[in-house]
Amino acid sequence: MGAALDVVRLALHSPALRGTEHSLRRYALGSRFGWAAIAQEAATCSLELTLDYVTRLPDMEMRDLERLLAFRHARIAAFSAALDDADGPFAFEHSRRCARAANHRIEDSAWTVLRQSMLLAMWQRPSGTSVLADGVATTAFRSAACKNCSWSVYDWDSFVERVGVLLQGLPRALL
Ligand SMILES: [Zn+2]
Repeated sequence: MGAALDVVRLALHSPALRGTEHSLRRYALGSRFGWAAIAQEAATCSLELTLDYVTRLPDMEMRDLERLLAFRHARIAAFSAALDDADGPFAFEHSRRCARAANHRIEDSAWTVLRQSMLLAMWQRPSGTSVLADGVATTAFRSAACKNCSWSVYDWDSFVERVGVLLQGLPRALL
């Protein structure tokens, strides 16, 4: 058994199992043999992958699959909660106020559309690397202007920075 395990361990580091596209197989093997560091690395790597009904999953124990899905879900849930929190990092975007005059009411459709597109991207890729990839939604958001004073509503640089901080703070470890 010892020698066989060594072969599996070596295989995990071979080019055939390297890379994001093989991360689910690495995760399955790491989990099966109790190699926590390998399972964690592979789980993190697999956050780049979309899992849906056409995804062919490697053989793995149901509890290991559950654990992987719970990890993904914990990130999505934390991200969604922060996006939706009217007192959270996006309090300004939720406030519908113009940065120039508090009584200028902002139509929030660009923010609503961007939020939805960010959440959808997070479901597809819980790494978060694609949350700002929807060019239509981000362009509308960036060009949104106050109807009263034409002032640009949203501060894009500040927004991107806050999204980055949020992504950094999401759960990083398998539960
Ligand atoms: Zn205004």
